[in-house]
Amino acid sequence: MKKYLYLVLGFQACVVFGSTKALKTTAELTHWKQTGRYVEVERLCKAFTKKFPQNVDCISFGKTPEGRQMRALVVADSKKGLLSFYAKKKKRPVVFVQGGIHAGEIDGKDAGFWLIREILENEANPKTVKALKEVTLVFVPVFNVDGHERFGKHNRPNQVGPEEMGWRTTAQNYNLNRDYMKVDSPEMKAMIQLLNQWDPLIALDLHVTDGAKFQHDVSIIMEPLFYGLKETREMALEIKEMVLNGLKTEGHLPLGFYPSFLKEDEPSSGFDLGVAPPRYSQGYLGVRNRVGMLVETHSWKDYATRVKAARNVVENTLLIIAEKGKQWRKQIEILDGQVSSQVGQEMGLAFKNSEKKKEEISFLGYHYQIEDSAVSGTTKITYFSNQPEVWKVPLYTEVIPEISERIPEGYIVPKSFQSIVIPKLQAHGIQFREIEDQVGIKEVEIFRADSFKFAEKSFEGHQGLKVTGEWKKEKVTINPGDLFVSTRQPKAFLIFHLFEPKGPDSLLAWGFFNSRFEQKEYMENYVTESVAKEMLTNPEIKKVFEEKLKQSEFEESPEKRLEFFYRLHPSWDQTLGLYPVYRVQEKLK
Ligand SMILES: [Zn+2]
Repeated sequence: MKKYLYLVLGFQACVVFGSTKALKTTAELTHWKQTGRYVEVERLCKAFTKKFPQNVDCISFGKTPEGRQMRALVVADSKKGLLSFYAKKKKRPVVFVQGGIHAGEIDGKDAGFWLIREILENEANPKTVKALKEVTLVFVPVFNVDGHERFGKHNRPNQVGPEEMGWRTTAQNYNLNRDYMKVDSPEMKAMIQLLNQWDPLIALDLHVTDGAKFQHDVSIIMEPLFYGLKETREMALEIKEMVLNGLKTEGHLPLGFYPSFLKEDEPSSGFDLGVAPPRYSQGYLGVRNRVGMLVETHSWKDYATRVKAARNVVENTLLIIAEKGKQWRKQIEILDGQVSSQVGQEMGLAFKNSEKKKEEISFLGYHYQIEDSAVSGTTKITYFSNQPEVWKVPLYTEVIPEISERIPEGYIVPKSFQSIVIPKLQAHGIQFREIEDQVGIKEVEIFRADSFKFAEKSFEGHQGLKVTGEWKKEKVTINPGDLFVSTRQPKAFLIFHLFEPKGPDSLLAWGFFNSRFEQKEYMENYVTESVAKEMLTNPEIKKVFEEKLKQSEFEESPEKRLEFFYRLHPSWDQTLGLYPVYRVQEKLK
């Protein structure tokens, strides 16, 4: 044990003091067999700054629950000191790259350090070296830092290398790549603050995918492609195509969609295009009217192959943004002003594939066999990765909205629920104001759920809620101090997603308003019995009741039969199922 410790220390010392090795990762020095611990991120972050003070600034942007610093490297070309201040002020397009949101999928950390070292030491292609004159790169080597330090050999059973790696979730067991909208974790609060500060044109989120075995080594999935402003969609599409082309030229076998079969373990079922909800990084960037790219290197490729693929995705993106980013940066500011023009327009909140349009693609797979399994009692698939094969499979390409709403002028949050809503608005950098003058009885839209259903299982620490129903006009009292959140601001699509109750990642869907959907007062059954007796003397009520008895579900349920009368009684709680946020379609006067 001790001997091993000396060896490790000796190795680290050599890394620290060897001049050519000082900026190399453990991954590079072990020929991509191992990846370093977080102490290496701390060391490299500072070592890069020391060696290239005009190019790199090592910043801390938060602290994890276990007390570790969250680090980012700001990389740019500056002739002055205070690099990150200078880079921010220059308003150059920012490319944001993050590794290790799922810390076991750590390719991005080693890819980023490798590329940055090659650029700064003039080893990269001259165009890439020059890119730093046009672009600011903000690189977060490891987003899920505590997860990274839950280090072990068996954390990724479906992945080839490195020898040991971190864990998928945080110390609080949050999956950060579900936390972008609800912002539960301290890590996500810090991350969104960093995004607010740097406002990247594009953000790359570097993962390693699981799933089937095939020849393709990397996939990129972009947002927004099917919603939002046309110009932003075109930007995302152009970046996607240019990165895919760049990768192909370099000998990679990239894909432009998420490579999971429509039916599990059935390659012939094919693939589809879709829209990522904003709980994911690329979806979140999309609803902020920026470009998000999910990068998935393929887990069954060795670590060297994967890190190279991740590195080359980042490099290709830098090259494109160096060429076109200046113009896009200007354009995006104009587009932010145009987001308001979408008020009153229908916009999708959730999407599905229509399964109508498809193209046959040549997918580079392996020979496989499906046979009965004595273990599971169903079938199992075996891939023969020494027998490459081209699969002719469908790719479904038409994506359509499944749930849509009209983007309103804004939302009103009454005082009662502000303690829940305000921290979320602040985390996202959304503007809001207190209503001072427009108080009193006003006609707004309210959402009273026709039906609602709590999720059976806890998910990411929340009990989800699904509602059905429509917004309806009603007069309510607006009190001084109620909040108005206008959609006439650049983050309108994000606001729309947070507040529309049927949105997949709305505050309501994540369960933040569950208390409003719990019945808190009751009528004793024997009291309801006498109320019912009285009510049934009314022929209209009697008729409706008898009609309902024809439905067996109603007829067989004593609770439903009694509730029918309780709901008609003045003691029934009218706020049960009433969403405590109002919507306004016209300017609040
Ligand atoms: Zn992942």
